[in-house]
Amino acid sequence: MNLDNFEIMYKEHRVEIHDKKKIEKKLQKILGNNNFSSKSIDLMAYSKDATLLSMNWTIEGKLAALPDFITWPENSSQISEILKMANEEKIPVVPYAEGSSVVGGSLPIYGGIIIDMKKFKEVLEINDENLTVTVQTGINGMNLERYLDARGYTSGHIPQSLYTSSLGGWLAHKAAGQFSTKYGKIEDMILGFEVILPNGEILEFDPIPRNSTGPQLDKLFIGAEGTLGIITKATLKIWPKPEKRTLISYSFLNIEDSFAATRTILREHIFPAVIRIYDHSETARHFEEVEKAKNRVMVVFVCEGNSKLVDLEEKITRAMCEQHNGIDCGKTPVEHWFETRFRVTETSSMPPYKIVFDTIEVASSWDNAAKVYHGVLNDMDNLKGVLMITAHVSHFYPNGVGIYFSWGGVPPREVSELKFYQEGWDTVIKAVLDAGGSIAHHHGIGINRSHWMEKEWGSAFKYLLKMKKMLDPNNILNPGKIYSPTWKGGEA
Ligand SMILES: Cc1cc2nc3c(=O)[nH]c(=O)nc-3n(C[C@H](O)[C@H](O)[C@H](O)COP(=O)(O)OP(=O)(O)OC[C@H]3O[C@@H](n4cnc5c(N)ncnc54)[C@H](O)[C@@H]3O)c2cc1C
Repeated sequence: MNLDNFEIMYKEHRVEIHDKKKIEKKLQKILGNNNFSSKSIDLMAYSKDATLLSMNWTIEGKLAALPDFITWPENSSQISEILKMANEEKIPVVPYAEGSSVVGGSLPIYGGIIIDMKKFKEVLEINDENLTVTVQTGINGMNLERYLDARGYTSGHIPQSLYTSSLGGWLAHKAAGQFSTKYGKIEDMILGFEVILPNGEILEFDPIPRNSTGPQLDKLFIGAEGTLGIITKATLKIWPKPEKRTLISYSFLNIEDSFAATRTILREHIFPAVIRIYDHSETARHFEEVEKAKNRVMVVFVCEGNSKLVDLEEKITRAMCEQHNGIDCGKTPVEHWFETRFRVTETSSMPPYKIVFDTIEVASSWDNAAKVYHGVLNDMDNLKGVLMITAHVSHFYPNGVGIYFSWGGVPPREVSELKFYQEGWDTVIKAVLDAGGSIAHHHGIGINRSHWMEKEWGSAFKYLLKMKKMLDPNNILNPGKIYSPTWKGGEA
């Protein structure tokens, strides 16, 4: 297959590798004959991630980006050697796990070498006394959860992409699972890990539950999206499987009442594992058969754990919902959510109709949450070409929420798909910042939000840039992400 015939959408920053034969020889020396490829079919397979616009491009025969080599290392020292070689040769390197990033995180927009982590898939140890599991980071999420489940445990981390994402990707994008209100997000679960720096040095952080040992250097690598190091092994907290699970749902008159009810529950120090608020549009879409939720806002709860505590949590959750005029809708809506929670056919049904569709999750404190919600809906309604904008709220804290917007539309005749996509993203992000929110809750920055980083971080941003420069002076590791405004043609 000749890839020259394909249009590459992100090609502005591509670094030309002049002597590919030389690099091939070096990779062969590090990896042997079988663990690397430069065949067109393999390059094509790694030319996209799950950024939804790249689905439209695939249908149109366009590639989002194009790497030069794919590698499948089997141990840390091979990764270390690849990074040392890439530094000598000034070749970009992109860590790639399951490619479910939805912000362009794993796209090789500078070309170069892909390091696929899928061979790092072993569970190394369960320690029942410490309640931990130590595991290689390329492991598929569902395989990890099945392994734990068979032994009576759960990690509590169940993202919608459980079947198509890995531990390394979760750590890189600071992921959040559906049960996060009780079990926390991935950064609450990780205790220690091994990371390989851009210069090939291997660092280990011990799995200690907590310490007081100066600035938390280890935290720098969580959420770094493969730009500061490649995480190869990690120790996570685990939990015995819950004794009891209770399903509850209530509908509310409006989003404000649903916010007030859930906020009050959390103030009581009650943490249902799952809380999800669906706005009017999403309630109509997902729960159209629930009579008591007609023209209302549905909220589903799952309480789980020790059965006595679950009974008490249920009692308090119900009391708070009723205090805020909630109507009990029974457990059927929650069962429906359980059945459909991994279904994502909606997103892949749009590209054949040339609809540009995406989801954008953001964070807000409680006092700004309604402003963020209404601000985004209002501004997106006014953007030419937008046909739908809806939201649900899926991550909760005593201090605020993560809000998840879904939007779609058809670009006006004079606007390209990419331009329309960028306008949609920028309209949402601007409305969120105007209302006092934060630009990302759990999908990360990647390409789609990198040009907003300076605004988000203010004067602290220059120190992030300095940190990147210090750890990766040749900018070889996942260039074009987080720090560089790729959409505006900027450089790291
Ligand atoms: C249908 C769908 C549902 C989703 N649901 C959720 C959800 O519920 N919650 C959520 O948080 N996200 C969700 N996502 C987003 C996505 O699954 C996450 O961002 C996930 O964390 C990416 O993991 P991955 O293994 O696919 O990583 P990839 O996409 O391969 O890589 C993502 C980033 O991680 C870096 N990386 C990968 N491995 C390593 C490593 N070992 N060390 C350092 N850097 C590394 C890559 O360079 C890249 O920057 C969803 C995505 C889809 C498509």
